[in-house]
Amino acid sequence: MDFSNNQNFSECQRCGTCCKKGGPALHYEDQEILDAGSIPLASLYTIRKGELARNNVTGGLISLPVEIIKIKSRPDDSACMYYNDADASCEIYENRPFECRNMECWNSDKIAALYDQNRLIRSLVLEKADWLKDLVSTHESECDLDQIQTLVNKREAGDAEAASVLTEMINYDFHLRSIVTEKGKIAPEMLDFLFGRPLNEIITRQFKIKIEKSKS
Ligand code: SF4
Ligand code: SF4
Repeated sequence: MDFSNNQNFSECQRCGTCCKKGGPALHYEDQEILDAGSIPLASLYTIRKGELARNNVTGGLISLPVEIIKIKSRPDDSACMYYNDADASCEIYENRPFECRNMECWNSDKIAALYDQNRLIRSLVLEKADWLKDLVSTHESECDLDQIQTLVNKREAGDAEAASVLTEMINYDFHLRSIVTEKGKIAPEMLDFLFGRPLNEIITRQFKIKIEKSKS
């Protein structure tokens, strides 16, 4: 979602511009929609604490103090996966998330006021799935992004041990995803919600370190 202000009109023109810029972040108000299965968890991904993300209100990049859960974009562009180009419509309009229901591009103050309030986090979404909640919590501490930042700094200063720990973290993240899908019977499409995007991709994107994928 994009919150650019446009004063030329006072009701939605269904131009789709906001939806084409990405899906919304979810808030407490969206829990009911998730519980009803109107938006499956496979349609979501998590941007983890410590990842860089665009603040749609200020426009700048920030290191997230708290994780965000968002609706995925389409595979080939940044549009929300539920946006339908053919008739500029939302495929889940009746169950669209809170941010979408409050999106008024001509009055960006409205959404700016709720933008970073009451955001849903994985431990709330998974409240009734203890084993997944525990797995998410363990992954979060094993692949902590603040710790990764420290290791990256040490690696750049020539610390071989730091480089080795970083490799272990990336391998842990890679193997955990395999185990959860193979032995835990979790759909692969759920992984970016459960554990955020693959750690090797985050490290490459955020710290500009090229990672070779684990072959083991
Ligand atoms: S809220 Fe604004 S940007 Fe979004 S579809 Fe409506 S007119 Fe377009
Ligand atoms: S959920 Fe619907 S209204 Fe919200 S960004 Fe996606 S397509 Fe647009």
